[in-house]
Amino acid sequence: MMTRSDMEEAHKKDENSAPDQRDEGRPTVVDADRARGVRGAEPSRRGDEPKVTHRDKTAAGFHAIYETMRFGLEEMGARRSLVTLKTINQKDGFDCPSCAWPDPDGDRSVVEFCENGAKAVSWEATTARVTPEFFQKHSIGELLEQNDLWLEKQGRITQPMLKAAGAAHYEAISWEGAFEHIAKRLNGLASPDEAVFYTSGRASNEAAFLYGLFAREFGTNNLPDCSNMCHESSGLGLTESIGIGKATVKIDDFAKADAIFVIGQNPGTCHPRMLTELQKAARNGCRIVSVNPLPETGMIKFKHPQEILHLLGPGTPIACLFVPVRVNGDVAVLKGIMKEMVEEDERLGGSVLDHEFITHHTEGFEEFKADLARTSWEEIVEASGVSREIIREAAAIAMGAKRMICCWAMGITQHENGVENVQTIVNFNLLRGQIGRAGAGVCPVRGHSNVQGDRTVGIWEKMSDKFMNSLGKEFGFEPPKKHGHDTVRSIQAMHEGKVKVFVGLGGNFLAATPDTKYTSEALARCTLTVQISTKLNRGHLITGEEALILPCLGRTERDVQKEGEQFVTVEDTVGKVHLSRGVLEPASAELKSEPAIIAGMARATLDGRTTVDWEGLAGNYDRIRDHIEHVVPGFEQYNKRVRDPGGFYLPNEPREGRFPTKTGKAHFVVHAIPRRRLEENQLVLMTIRSHDQFNTTIYGEHDRYRGISGGRRVVFLNEIDMKRLNLRENQWVNLISHYEGETRRAERFRVVGYAIPPRCAAAYYPETNVLVPIRSVARGSNQPASKSIVITVEGAG
Ligand code: SF4
Repeated sequence: MMTRSDMEEAHKKDENSAPDQRDEGRPTVVDADRARGVRGAEPSRRGDEPKVTHRDKTAAGFHAIYETMRFGLEEMGARRSLVTLKTINQKDGFDCPSCAWPDPDGDRSVVEFCENGAKAVSWEATTARVTPEFFQKHSIGELLEQNDLWLEKQGRITQPMLKAAGAAHYEAISWEGAFEHIAKRLNGLASPDEAVFYTSGRASNEAAFLYGLFAREFGTNNLPDCSNMCHESSGLGLTESIGIGKATVKIDDFAKADAIFVIGQNPGTCHPRMLTELQKAARNGCRIVSVNPLPETGMIKFKHPQEILHLLGPGTPIACLFVPVRVNGDVAVLKGIMKEMVEEDERLGGSVLDHEFITHHTEGFEEFKADLARTSWEEIVEASGVSREIIREAAAIAMGAKRMICCWAMGITQHENGVENVQTIVNFNLLRGQIGRAGAGVCPVRGHSNVQGDRTVGIWEKMSDKFMNSLGKEFGFEPPKKHGHDTVRSIQAMHEGKVKVFVGLGGNFLAATPDTKYTSEALARCTLTVQISTKLNRGHLITGEEALILPCLGRTERDVQKEGEQFVTVEDTVGKVHLSRGVLEPASAELKSEPAIIAGMARATLDGRTTVDWEGLAGNYDRIRDHIEHVVPGFEQYNKRVRDPGGFYLPNEPREGRFPTKTGKAHFVVHAIPRRRLEENQLVLMTIRSHDQFNTTIYGEHDRYRGISGGRRVVFLNEIDMKRLNLRENQWVNLISHYEGETRRAERFRVVGYAIPPRCAAAYYPETNVLVPIRSVARGSNQPASKSIVITVEGAG
């Protein structure tokens, strides 16, 4: 059995292999190319000329069909479009690599995707290629001048590429050469904790489990992931309140609900097929409430692209009430709604709240009620920006619903009080016992296809002792006990020179993370950065002293290993695990699957210090799933059940009305309304996505739901603020963020007057990530507060 001290001994023996990394504390020399790289870390402004155009008032419809076809034909051609689009999200097909919205439990239609899913697939299955010749032709410096859309448009990377120390270009390298290079650098570190292993939410359960095993056998728990940036606050808040950090609903619950509150979420762009469920619910008489600073098109009206007869009609109204909450006014508005409910309950002799549920299944109610009584209406209305009348209407909908669901996304989690926001939503559900029965529950909606599954199978810097012991027992080693770094802490550790090797399993770390300039400096201080990727992005250009790009298979592609064709498995946002099997021939014969790449790195790095049969695992993923079954509860008969059409749900006690907290009860948690004193000229900025975007991937420069075309550098402002700050529509401005006496700048954005509450602003990321201070994070979860940025606006010359 290998222990951590054995490893450290092995590292010492290897000392001569990487003498440049022995010098603890010595600042890494940033060569000229990398210095230029840091300067090019922000998205290029080249060609970014946004204009205000027509705004679609109904989501999807003909326009979505047109965009789907246009993208498919442009990127893949007719035949590939047909093959991929008829297979995506089908029971024996591949899982959409975009968001984590679940597929129907029963029968599926022949078209089980949305416009954004089709774009994601076209993007991956493109026929364009980035070959070694491409890298010979373009230096890293030249590529940095291009915008993010141009970079991704170049197509799929076909071969492993190495940027040597001091080199201006990437050059082709063999797979074995790449693995040996990684092994040499990893084994040359003074401690395993000088490496971080980042995971994006596209990685399958099988890849994520192997990756976690590799990092821990190597000796570190430095396993940051994109969940650290999107729903970490949901995981923590829910676990403390109800005992599990996941949704408590199934997809069928949406059609059974009488009320659905969609809070801080824009499903029309971020989880488009959710509109199908909301449409079904609305047609069943469910009352849908949108609580959001911006009135988003998807929440107003929807035309289902498959309902041919309805395409010419006016569309289905979705939300019956829009609650225009200020940015981060959610605790205030929810407290207002709950105060109405509690007061009404008292007036009607206890017939509004579910007192039996509160008594038997919860604790903390009396304290919670006393806090509501103490909270004044003036404070609620002022902090939420929502009138008493609208709050009363929302409360009436909640009180009239036998079955209520609350959903949310990053409008809730990306604040310093993100965990408090989540727990306040749970309080709202607990008041009428709206967790643990059909048609009711809470649902954080995840934005990347397997971000939830990756966490379930072990991607976390602080997995439970139970998981770690089980993993150690299964593979005969002693996993490291010390907790590792999350995303923010990893960036800080790289910046401080305490982490020297960065490995990214998918994603675009640079664009996804806060404080772009600081993060780019952090990456540039590494001795080696490794990106396992399908397409070129800015993250490949802001590198450590040396850098590797390891090109991998995409979800759409056939995955043939030593023991035959393989499939992978993923978990959706409601905890259902199902298989994903690609259908296209790989973009290049040189591509490897993510499990094969991880196995290659592990074999080369842990050579002689591991008893794991890495190649055997990569040769047949059933073996990986057998190990997952032994280590992670809920995966009994994994290989059999995942082959059942549609897959299986993981256990979820709150869904059954049981709360696996320490006391066995759900908790009402009291939180104060967050107060922020803004100076006269300050606003609170939230980062948002355009409709032509999936997470950090930019598909185009249009946002038809907000009437923006031809560029992305816009800032949406209330007209009262524009007048007050002397700003004109279309004027170019710079945005300056303010945090603990520091300022950060993002330059040249066009002012767009918009229906957003006063003192609030919105602008697209990743362009505005540069404004998010690395230290501005949610209490408890350490999630970047990307939707709570205090800014001022100045005219740009
Ligand atoms: S809703 Fe999400 S998972 Fe479904 S097709 Fe659209 S982008 Fe893909």
